[in-house]
Amino acid sequence: LAGIYVHIPYCKTICHYCDFYKTANTSTLDKFVECILMEIELKKDFIFENISTIYFGGGTPSVLEIYQLERILNTISKHYQLDKDIEITIEINPDDSDPFFFQELIRIGFNRLSIGIQSFNDSILKYLNRRHNAKAALKSIEDALEFGFQNISIDLIYGIPNQSFDDFNSDLKRISDSQVNHLSAYHLGIEDNTYFGKLKAKNRFIEIDESSSRIFYDLLIDWASNNNFDHYEVSNFARDNKISRHNKSYWFSAPYIGFGPSAHSFFYNKRSFNIANVKYYIDALESKNSFSEEESLSFTNKYNEYIMLRLRTKWGIDLLELSKIIDSNNYLKIIKRINQFKESGYLSISNNKVILNENGSFISDYIIRELIISE
Ligand code: SF4
Repeated sequence: LAGIYVHIPYCKTICHYCDFYKTANTSTLDKFVECILMEIELKKDFIFENISTIYFGGGTPSVLEIYQLERILNTISKHYQLDKDIEITIEINPDDSDPFFFQELIRIGFNRLSIGIQSFNDSILKYLNRRHNAKAALKSIEDALEFGFQNISIDLIYGIPNQSFDDFNSDLKRISDSQVNHLSAYHLGIEDNTYFGKLKAKNRFIEIDESSSRIFYDLLIDWASNNNFDHYEVSNFARDNKISRHNKSYWFSAPYIGFGPSAHSFFYNKRSFNIANVKYYIDALESKNSFSEEESLSFTNKYNEYIMLRLRTKWGIDLLELSKIIDSNNYLKIIKRINQFKESGYLSISNNKVILNENGSFISDYIIRELIISE
């Protein structure tokens, strides 16, 4: 199992909450595609496993033309060995979708869509500065199904000021009433370098309180269990067994290569980070200079990553695996803390697996902070 991630950093407009690396300046787009092709070839010997998942994320990959997406996919398949049943996902904005676009995506090899809907409520979409409206969101789902996608994921955001519990329930109902089989639902988080973050610094943005957050979360959990969506990671839900292979490969530490500005790679105990600036990325590739930094993972890094990635999933932490990653002193300390969380009703331990329950899932960030160790 190995993966490829392609970061397309362009967006037509910038959402008020967004902390990803992106730019609204598309003047470099053609050069950027040439550089991605160069990077794909440059890294062709980085991993030896077959590729079982490719993910185009962003930014907004659907700002690229079909022929540009096709060139990128063709270059990947020329230089990497792809599994026959490979999962190939593209994130799209509802506004960029039309029947022809969907047919062409399928023709060139995509078999999974991740649609950035966030909400089906026009006033919330406007508040978030999304460029689509609810009608476009619904149409993108209908068209994707009609034109052949059977594997569709939707992103939703909840915990937004002025969003009522009814608003969120009605968003969830739209998902379960459709044939969408995967949901990624994130609580709105406010990062300093975003529009909302800047408002918050001036006391002009008030986040919802913790008891409201908990009600939103409980609505989500109840909806999932009533509609046969498997809650397989803190923010991810799947029905019909359509768990994202790409996400799962990250959580199980499979090697992956990332292409594009700000993309990360992980292969054979090393992690590398591409520069998060499209201009520097292009300049470096064109002049054959370095555009990424690399580090080898220490035992502490490996342990912390294992806790951060696995504890958020339904597969949890395997205590036997954990005992092989850290020394016995730290292991005993961690077991003591895990037992305290168990006694407080946040997790279960069975067959050497530590698995968060819904109470624990709600405060997973806190539990993870308590379990990670410093160098
Ligand atoms: S949320 Fe998505 S579409 Fe909005 S600015 Fe960020 S990357 Fe672009």
